[in-house]
Amino acid sequence: MTKKKGEYCSFCMRQKSQTSLLIAGQEAFICNHCVQEAYEMLQNEKLSHVNRSENKELTLLIPSEIKKHLDEYVIGQDEAKKVMAVAVYNHYKRILHRTLNTDNQIEIEKSNIIMVGETGTGKTLMAKTIAKILNVPFCIADATVLTEAGYVGEDVESVLSRLLQVSNFDVEAAEKGIIFIDEIDKISRKGDNPSITRDVSGEGVQQGLLKLLEGSVIHVPPYGGRKHPEQKMINVNTQNILFICGGAFDGIERKISERLNKQSIGFKSDLKKHKIDNQNLLQYVSPQDLKNFGLIPELVGRLPVVTHLNPLDAQALRRILTEPRNAILKQYTELFRLDQKELIIEDKVIDFIVEKAIAFKLGARGLRSICEAIMNDLMYSSPENPDTIIRVTLSYAKERFNYARLDHAA
Ligand code: ADP
Repeated sequence: MTKKKGEYCSFCMRQKSQTSLLIAGQEAFICNHCVQEAYEMLQNEKLSHVNRSENKELTLLIPSEIKKHLDEYVIGQDEAKKVMAVAVYNHYKRILHRTLNTDNQIEIEKSNIIMVGETGTGKTLMAKTIAKILNVPFCIADATVLTEAGYVGEDVESVLSRLLQVSNFDVEAAEKGIIFIDEIDKISRKGDNPSITRDVSGEGVQQGLLKLLEGSVIHVPPYGGRKHPEQKMINVNTQNILFICGGAFDGIERKISERLNKQSIGFKSDLKKHKIDNQNLLQYVSPQDLKNFGLIPELVGRLPVVTHLNPLDAQALRRILTEPRNAILKQYTELFRLDQKELIIEDKVIDFIVEKAIAFKLGARGLRSICEAIMNDLMYSSPENPDTIIRVTLSYAKERFNYARLDHAA
């Protein structure tokens, strides 16, 4: 340590006279103030590192706990919630079982999930909520942008790039994550004969997804896109990644009905036939129907848990608007509260929003845009509005809705 005249801290530029200690390095100096600051930064960094590793801990909940959490965010869909809760519980139990019991002979197979249900019924919400509950990395991939390797579009590996990105490139965390593949029905095989033409965006992608779903080590381009020879790849083992696929499978009811009808011809099945609820055939969806729809058998085989989501009726839509933790109407109330105003939405307005959402046939997806159309003007003027109570009446809602011309957009 030297303290020569004219010396100053290389970090904060304080003169030696302004410090109580100036430590000399080979070509620089550091003062007591900067040492203190650096020490605090180091402590904070250590703390955040501890937090990060604590966050990496998997929260293993039992199925009823998983369902209870789901109930806070997802309205209805009880059967799907139960099926998912069990599948997810088994999946993470399997991971722990592997680490605890390496020489056990019994290999528990992966339980990837496929959800069939109309658009806007909560498929994505369900997958997202499960990842949140379990505190694992989660990403959504759209099957329609994927193409067979070598063709224009994204390679299937890009799905893993996204998971790596949301995991801040923590490979260990990513390897326990959940990937939701949306619109899986859109990559169905076109036609019954797979060899007529090359099907790069259908069967080719399904083939590509197989190796991801079954569990293998994949070379992943960290930032997605095409594989370049010069790009450094990251190896990701997909063995413990849970894949949840979702799709509307428009028209699958016909396949289900055909199968059920075939089954019901024959003895002992008359009784069954009478019990079939033709209003909601999706509840009977089976792996066979997914194959008949155009998913290749190998892919169906790797998605052993099949479940369905029910269409949302008026009552469910109403509950979605008002009940979940972050229900849309609760969010508006909060926005106005932040402007020191009380928001009152008349009951008939809620009925009106629900009625329009049903007409749009977008499930709960339509609710948000209808609400925005009604509320936008009120939110625009709120900060300058002297009233402390903002009341939304049916006539006001209708007027704003008509003004937005959403009917024409639907
Ligand atoms: P899907 O994936 O089935 O097309 P999403 O899960 O993306 O539908 O749903 C779209 C939006 O609608 C979600 O953000 C959510 O706010 C709402 N939503 C849909 N279904 C439900 C539900 N069952 N309970 C609560 N909210 C729902």
